[in-house]
Amino acid sequence: MLNKVNNLYDNHEFNDSHYHLTNYIQEGPHIRHHLKLMGDKVGRCAVFGMPLHQTWSYMISGNDAPKYYLDSDAPLYYYSYTDAYIAMQFLSLTDEEKLRFDPLINGFNCVDMYAVEHIKRVLRNFPGVFTGIGEFTIHKEFVSSKIEGEIASLYNPALDCILKFAGETGLLVLLHNDINKPFPRAYTKNYVEEINEVFKKHSSAVIIWAHIGLGRVVRPLAHQIEILKTMLEEPNLSHVYFDLSWVEVAKYIAGNDKTARGMANLINAFPDRFLFGTDEMAVTEQKKYLKIYYMYEPLWKRLTPEACEKVKKANYTRLFDNAKMKVRKWEKENIK
Ligand SMILES: [Zn+2]
Repeated sequence: MLNKVNNLYDNHEFNDSHYHLTNYIQEGPHIRHHLKLMGDKVGRCAVFGMPLHQTWSYMISGNDAPKYYLDSDAPLYYYSYTDAYIAMQFLSLTDEEKLRFDPLINGFNCVDMYAVEHIKRVLRNFPGVFTGIGEFTIHKEFVSSKIEGEIASLYNPALDCILKFAGETGLLVLLHNDINKPFPRAYTKNYVEEINEVFKKHSSAVIIWAHIGLGRVVRPLAHQIEILKTMLEEPNLSHVYFDLSWVEVAKYIAGNDKTARGMANLINAFPDRFLFGTDEMAVTEQKKYLKIYYMYEPLWKRLTPEACEKVKKANYTRLFDNAKMKVRKWEKENIK
């Protein structure tokens, strides 16, 4: 069946490894509308909601209702219903349509030792639906510090439990962690060492590092490409993949010839380790949905045909199909 769908959409331009069906106030078009936007351009799509909800605090913004996390100083809170919503959207599709989506679980609080119980509960209640976990966030500029309660950290054993469980079940992991602080000073430390340690500790999980660590204001490190290269060459990190998603990342990679060339050389040398994704959120028009894909043209044209095919489609197919197979097996053995 999977081969059937992979063949069926062989002529599409790409698979989207990173798409949020809902926004920070948990709104977004129906999944069937998204299927229309995918049309004959996007074959398959890794779909998930938003694990965080922006509070509308009347005391802070009055009648000015925030829609995005930067719209208000009011806190964000974990919104676990997002997983049920995504599952119900997926289940409303026909069997054939379902083959084009790979839903991920992300409505858990990553400082909570019970997070794994939430993930298990979602798998138990919606067997046959989910392929992975994510996008979930540890350090993210302006977001982490706005979340109510304890702040997420790469040192937290709750994160270890989540990644360990992903290793046991085969759930593909899509993790956001900025590579650096938003406005680094000479005396601040970046997250390279910590994130490498976490990844190395969890070699049984297949992990995609979202946005190669970049953010809206988190700029690439001076030796960004060399740092990625070191990670790609490290045998203990062969289970780590990198997503080229988010318009902010496209601006960096495709923004000038030097970085486009540098990244293209890196990807050509390690073509199995990168995936393209849009990181669009609750988008309603196809033009907006595909914008980032076309922004990457300066990169696409510098890739070898083999690398280009892998980044746009084949790596997605391989990773998501593998994960799907393992998770279905785990469900069969563990859900009574
Ligand atoms: Zn995202």
